[in-house]
Amino acid sequence: MTLDPQLAYARRMDRADGLAHYRKRFHGADDDLVYFDGNSLGRPPVAAIERMQRFMTHDWGGRLIRGWDEAWLQLPVEIGDRIGRAVIEAKAGQTVIGDSTTVLLYKLARAAVDAQLARDPERREIVVDTDNFPTDRYVLEGIAAERGLHLRWIHVDTSLGVTPAQLAAAVGPQTALVVVSHVAYRSAYLADAPELTRIAHDAGALILWDLCHSAGSVPVKADAWGFDLAVGCTYKYLNGGPGSPAFAYVRDDLQSILRQPIQGWFGTTDQFDMGPGYEPVRGIRRFLSGTSPILAMLPMDETLAMIEEAGIAAIRAKSVALTSFAIELHEHLLAPLGVTLASPADPAERGGHVTLHHDAMREVTARLWQRDVIPDYRDPGGLRIGLSPLSTSFEEVHRGLDATRECLREVIAERAGLG
Ligand SMILES: *Cc1c(COP(=O)(O)O)cnc(C)c1O
Repeated sequence: MTLDPQLAYARRMDRADGLAHYRKRFHGADDDLVYFDGNSLGRPPVAAIERMQRFMTHDWGGRLIRGWDEAWLQLPVEIGDRIGRAVIEAKAGQTVIGDSTTVLLYKLARAAVDAQLARDPERREIVVDTDNFPTDRYVLEGIAAERGLHLRWIHVDTSLGVTPAQLAAAVGPQTALVVVSHVAYRSAYLADAPELTRIAHDAGALILWDLCHSAGSVPVKADAWGFDLAVGCTYKYLNGGPGSPAFAYVRDDLQSILRQPIQGWFGTTDQFDMGPGYEPVRGIRRFLSGTSPILAMLPMDETLAMIEEAGIAAIRAKSVALTSFAIELHEHLLAPLGVTLASPADPAERGGHVTLHHDAMREVTARLWQRDVIPDYRDPGGLRIGLSPLSTSFEEVHRGLDATRECLREVIAERAGLG
């Protein structure tokens, strides 16, 4: 029997893949389980397991409270700078590891609208799209209520995202802040970040980029593209582990202008003077609030080392090849069963995942999970296939989509039987 041509292609791609050797540096990546959710929770780096053990016994267990002075107080800016170098092309001193993405979004967005209102009381609008990530929308809703501001909604196609024309039509002299996701969590639409940033700036607005679904998978040039503010997750493509703290980027010339609302001792001038009033420290540290989650920021450091070594350009090239292969398999295996593509077909407009639509996908996902094929499901009817370039193989993509076809056939057959 001749080999299925798509499977033969997958094996050829794996043999030619210059990043293939990274797979064994992730715990469990070499077993039969198909993991399509590295965009929600990346696999653990093997080196992080050893690092955590060493940290527990040597750093925490041995150095005890001395660890803060010896290393830990610097870790949020050291790892932040490493994200700046390896992931978002930001020069040192502008990126810091802090709280969850949600809390950092709140701190930066509140600081931004307050600075804008102080400059011009007419800037009372925040622009955001209807399909931005829920937490972003909820945080902005809260800030608007606190400050008496208005949210201007851009209504987007859920298979796409915010286009330059849509943003240009939404901003004006009333805009304080624009909040956009670089890669849309549902469709994987890759926003034109330099262009949207320019449009926001031309209107006198600040822009806050949510990089959760791009950090570690899509190139970002925070400095060159003129970003004001950005936040991003570290437990997705940066493999920081469940609940690992997020990063914040604040362009250096904005740092002294912005005053963040959660005034805590980790962001003050002389933290251990324990002074009578809050005095924000100069620089990116002022965006910190309370005691840094040191344990939770260690694993990501191991992924950052791999990203520095591999280079984000090679990672993006593999990401495009993986998503393109998934779409090709979809056309062969799933489209004949009525599945449609709910992500951009053009790789230049697509991030690191692919969403496939069919009204049976909720049931299909449940069946796939039972068979150790792990995509995720997003309403309405979206099967989301996240392809983490350092830990996913082409053969894995083939195995997963083949299983998807089988499960979908079963569900369709059962529905027909019931009908
Ligand atoms: C995953 C994700 C978040 C998550 O925020 P948390 O505070 O970490 O829960 C926020 N925004 C986007 C776009 C995401 O994809």
